[in-house]
Amino acid sequence: MKFNTKLIHGGISEDKTTGAVSIPVYRSSTFHQHELGAQPKWEYARTGNPTRQALEELIADLENGTRGFAFASGSAAIHAVFSLFSSGDHIIIGNDVYGGTFRLVNKVLKRFGLEFSVVDTRDLQTVEAAIQPNTKAIYFETPTNPLLKITDIAAVAKIAKAHDLKTIVDNTFATPYNQNPLTLGVDIVVHSATKYLGGHSDVVAGLAVTNDEKIAEDLAFLQNSIGSVLGPDDSWLLMRGIKTLGARMRIHHENAKLVYDYLENNDKVAKIYYPGNPESVGYDIAKKQMRGFGAMISFELNEGLDAKKFVESLQLIDLAESLGGIESLIEVPAVMTHAAIPREIRLQNGITDELIRLSVGLEDEEDLLGDLKQAFDKI
Ligand SMILES: *Cc1c(COP(=O)(O)O)cnc(C)c1O
Repeated sequence: MKFNTKLIHGGISEDKTTGAVSIPVYRSSTFHQHELGAQPKWEYARTGNPTRQALEELIADLENGTRGFAFASGSAAIHAVFSLFSSGDHIIIGNDVYGGTFRLVNKVLKRFGLEFSVVDTRDLQTVEAAIQPNTKAIYFETPTNPLLKITDIAAVAKIAKAHDLKTIVDNTFATPYNQNPLTLGVDIVVHSATKYLGGHSDVVAGLAVTNDEKIAEDLAFLQNSIGSVLGPDDSWLLMRGIKTLGARMRIHHENAKLVYDYLENNDKVAKIYYPGNPESVGYDIAKKQMRGFGAMISFELNEGLDAKKFVESLQLIDLAESLGGIESLIEVPAVMTHAAIPREIRLQNGITDELIRLSVGLEDEEDLLGDLKQAFDKI
C-alpha cells in the first residue's frame, strides 16, 4: 500500500465484530473473562483497548515500524521512551529540542540519575566526540523548533549503530507524510500527535513507534507500568485526524511555499528559516531525507521592528502556542514557547526577540497573505 492509502486502510481498517468502517470507541475499562486464567486478548484497558490498538497499528504502519504505542501526550510518550534507560546511563540530545523535552530532562530525569550531553546533532564530529562508555542513546529532532535545523538522520544512526547506541527521533514537525526515520536506521520514533497528526487543534496525544522486537516488548511493559495511556475517545479522534493527513499536508505545503515566497520578497523581513529554502544550510539533507518541507516557517523582522505589534495586528492568524492545525498559528518564541530559556542562551542559539514562528494552515491564499500584508503595513 502507498502512503495515502495506508492513512485510510492501514492498521485495523474495519471492526472485526460489526464491520463498522470507523473503528468504534470501546469505552470499557475491563473485559469479561470467559475462562479463569486463560490470558484473554483483552483484560484491562490500561494494558490494551481495541480503539487504542487500532490507532497503534495505524501509526506503526505509517512509520514503517512493527509496533506503535499511544500515550496521553507527546511528553508522556517521550517520558516512556526515556524510561527504557536506567540510572547512570548517558544520553546525547540535540541542542534545539522541544522546550518541554529539555524541562523533562533537566528537572525530572536527571533526578533519577540519567545523564545527558546536549550537542548540535548537525555536527557529526561533535556527536561522535560526545559518546562516553556509558552512552546508550542519541535523541534529536529534525527539523527543529523554531529554527528548522536539519540533521542527517541516516548519518547519526550510522554513528549510533557503530557504537551500539539506540537512535530516537522526534518526528513531530515532519510527520510520517514527509519523513520516516525508522527507514533511515533509527530505532524509535516519537510524536506529539497533538500537532499535525491530530491536525485540528482538538486533542492532546503522543505516539511512539519501533521496529525492534525487544524495544517493543520493553515499551509495552513501560506503557502499562507507567500508565500514561491515551483513552479510547482521544484515540478515535486522533485516528479520524490522521485519515486526512495526506490531504491536509498537500495544502499545508502549497500554502507554506506561498508564504515563504511572500516573506522572501518582503523588505521588512531580515531572515527566514524554512527547510525548503534552497540557500539554507540543511537544504540538501532535507531534500535527501524528506518528501516535503513541511509548513513551519520562522522569520525575523528587521531589527527595531515591533514583533509584538505585528502579531497582535493579525486578524485571521491566531496568536497561540502549538502548531500543525488546520488554522494558521503564530507565536513569538522568546516570549511564548521558549521563554523558559535564559535570554543569553536563547540568543546564543539564534532565537532573537524579533523571531516569529508561523504554522501555516489551510486558509485560502488571499486571506492568508492579505492578513500578513495588513499586519506588515502596521509596523
Ligand atoms: C508539542 C511537542 C512535544 C510535546 O508534545 P505534547 O503533546 O504537547 O506533550 C514534543 N515534541 C515536539 C517537537 C513538539 O512540538
